[in-house]
Amino acid sequence: MTLLDRAIVRFLPAVPKPVVQRSSARYIAGPTLDDAVESVRRLNSGGKLATIDVLGEEISRVSEARSIAKTYRDVFAAIERAKLDSNVSVKLTGLGLDLSYDLCRENLEDAVRTAAEHGNFVRIDMEDSSTTDETLRLYRELRLAGHDNVGVVLQASLRRTLDDVRALGGLRPNVRLCKGIYVEPPPIAFTDDEAVRANFLRCLDEVLDVGAYPAVATHDEWLIVESLRRISQRGLAVDEYELQMLLGVREERADELVAEGHRLRVYVPFGEQWYAYSLRRLQENPAMAGTIARATAARVLRLGR
Ligand SMILES: Cc1cc2nc3c(=O)[nH]c(=O)nc-3n(C[C@H](O)[C@H](O)[C@H](O)COP(=O)(O)OP(=O)(O)OC[C@H]3O[C@@H](n4cnc5c(N)ncnc54)[C@H](O)[C@@H]3O)c2cc1C
Repeated sequence: MTLLDRAIVRFLPAVPKPVVQRSSARYIAGPTLDDAVESVRRLNSGGKLATIDVLGEEISRVSEARSIAKTYRDVFAAIERAKLDSNVSVKLTGLGLDLSYDLCRENLEDAVRTAAEHGNFVRIDMEDSSTTDETLRLYRELRLAGHDNVGVVLQASLRRTLDDVRALGGLRPNVRLCKGIYVEPPPIAFTDDEAVRANFLRCLDEVLDVGAYPAVATHDEWLIVESLRRISQRGLAVDEYELQMLLGVREERADELVAEGHRLRVYVPFGEQWYAYSLRRLQENPAMAGTIARATAARVLRLGR
């Protein structure tokens, strides 16, 4: 990214919402569950797996958290009805973590139980570092309560992650490993790209050492190649790991990886609360800053007429 791009990206929250919505449309299936079902059907027909996310991390009321939990029940039913190859991803703040730990646990357990009834699986997304301890605690509590159809996410950008992999090792967790999208302070996070990459591979090695199931979630070509090299060196079968990407990102590369015989899962978010997710995706798109600047300028000029 150029310096100008970085500056524009920093001011994204000031960009008019319609511009953000238009620019981020490719990252989101649409506002409804039917939109998600259509996206997953398309992905499945191209040999890709999916994980459906109900957007809604900006909730502030208990009723909203319960409503998201209910939507997940609808998602499992829709996956079964349409015979889709998809699990779900949940954000604990969407299930009420900021309101009450117990409410969140109740909603999460409901999702995991419903998933089990449908022979399905729940991935707990990882949010910013203020939620890491409680997220891992909830994950551990559910596993110790006998729920095996639940997985977690660990972020290579956090300095603590290698210790977290070791601490979870005994549970042989199903781990999605990603760089981590949230901006965290240097005392707790690596801020340099190379350090994040190095920690990603250290953590992946540890995940493999403890015999956990790795879901390698990155579009970074160097990391994809290095991760696959490690996976192949260990002789893992095709169903003993997976690659993951986000909807709308590096789709041609995803096709190639599927053609090479890897299992690849695409993250498919849907819902009305698209704003926070969209901002994060735009902030990461190296080509998006210029597009946003042009779209915003055009809109401002139109309004000025
Ligand atoms: C399936 C999945 C689930 C995730 N879940 C979480 C989670 O639970 N918690 C969390 O903190 N983070 C999560 N992330 C986000 C992740 O942490 C990174 O922020 C994100 O994947 C970008 O990092 P990267 O590894 O792809 O590398 P980058 O260096 O950011 O990207 C590599 C290349 O991919 C392309 N690219 C990346 N992003 C975009 C984009 N938005 N638009 C267009 N091109 C792009 C560009 O060509 C870029 O050069 C998830 C990512 C994936 C793929």
